[in-house]
Amino acid sequence: MPQRFFIETFGCQMNEHDSEKVAGLLAHRGMVAVNSLEEADLFLINTCSVREKAAQKLYSRLGEVKKHKTSHPQFLIGVLGCLAQQEGEDMVKRVPFVDLVVGTHMFHALPDLLEEVEQRRGSGARVATDFLPAPTPVEIPQVIRQSDFRANITIMEGCNKQCSFCIVPTTRGRERNRPAQAVLQEARRAVDQGYVEILLLGQTVNSYKDPNDRHFRFADLLSQVASIPRLQRVRFTSPHPREFDDHTISVIGEMETICNQVHLPLQSGSTPILKRMRRQYTRERYLEIVDKFRNCGRPIALSTDIIVGFPGESDADFQQTLSLVEEVQFESMFSFKYSPRPHTAAEHWQDEIPEEKKTHRLMLLQKMQKEIQLRLHQEHYLGRHLEVLVEGTARDGVRRFGRTSTNKVVNFPGTDRPGTFTEVFITDVGPNSLVGQKTTDRQQNCA
Ligand code: SF4
Repeated sequence: MPQRFFIETFGCQMNEHDSEKVAGLLAHRGMVAVNSLEEADLFLINTCSVREKAAQKLYSRLGEVKKHKTSHPQFLIGVLGCLAQQEGEDMVKRVPFVDLVVGTHMFHALPDLLEEVEQRRGSGARVATDFLPAPTPVEIPQVIRQSDFRANITIMEGCNKQCSFCIVPTTRGRERNRPAQAVLQEARRAVDQGYVEILLLGQTVNSYKDPNDRHFRFADLLSQVASIPRLQRVRFTSPHPREFDDHTISVIGEMETICNQVHLPLQSGSTPILKRMRRQYTRERYLEIVDKFRNCGRPIALSTDIIVGFPGESDADFQQTLSLVEEVQFESMFSFKYSPRPHTAAEHWQDEIPEEKKTHRLMLLQKMQKEIQLRLHQEHYLGRHLEVLVEGTARDGVRRFGRTSTNKVVNFPGTDRPGTFTEVFITDVGPNSLVGQKTTDRQQNCA
């Protein structure tokens, strides 16, 4: 059995947290996490298959790691996560030097699978991609968190939506909700350990329902987590616009512990394209939800995701996206060119929009968004005093950086420890971040 492991993670916050759970599982069996491939006798790579680029990145990284294995024959390589789930045995055909391929439902079995791999060394890779029939995710005894101040906590896994561009229902399966008691217990423990921020995670986080009481829904859980004494901030990701009911919006409007930032993935501003995407809302319904947030009692910064060049997207459809972006004034945006993914409904639809047109649309959208962000930063942030949760050293290697409740990155001179709160006066703004000077220290409160 290997003793020292090193994990690399591609993809979203859910993947990051899966790696934290895997690290906890292995540590629970007495293994030790190390900081580099060279120190490890087990290398795990946790994958993402939402975009084509992530798959290319994985195979190129595995090519590099193979060289290390050639000179260290006892070294084991395992691939975990969405791409492992999706490709299974095909992955082994492509990279036969891999020892273990573990899908998204089988993380919990990793220590046992490693023992099997040890016993059958030389007889090929072990592939474990079964979907568990369990109605709730398997509880993990221990999580090793990467952050000392932000605790990621899974509340649900999988997705019952069937967006035609998305591979998640194939790789993650149908919704499975954790019992509220288990979530609350983990959240209280994290706060007792000194964590000041909790990030609730799920593929469609706001469709949460307690498996032991179907009337206890996301709004109830969010409200109970936000009420934990001494907890400073709660965030959640990734929600689906359709699942924002009035109760959830009013809880967000009322509870100051819940960060005043909400991600509202739009994907397209055109109702016919939303229909082809199977998003289950129209442009009008989306704007109604935006309106509800605008009137919920306190300012909420909205962020979004947009795909351009989806099959069938005409110039007029794209203009609808631009006009909606202009109307809503999102505080930040992730935007992408469409590319077909395997095992999705749209996989075989004619991807008729030329690459240059997709690139041009993306450029127009991003230019508009950059101007909006700069304007919002000038109007709402410049010259204001803001509370910032310090996260670490800024990219220049000298200043500190932290985040506002609205999730804005602020760079400022200082030596504050990550996990502490400080007040910063904003002296300059760019489209992507803010610059300031510390005004007061508020509280030292770190894990
Ligand atoms: S809601 Fe749609 S985009 Fe989000 S995970 Fe489910 S299928 Fe994918």
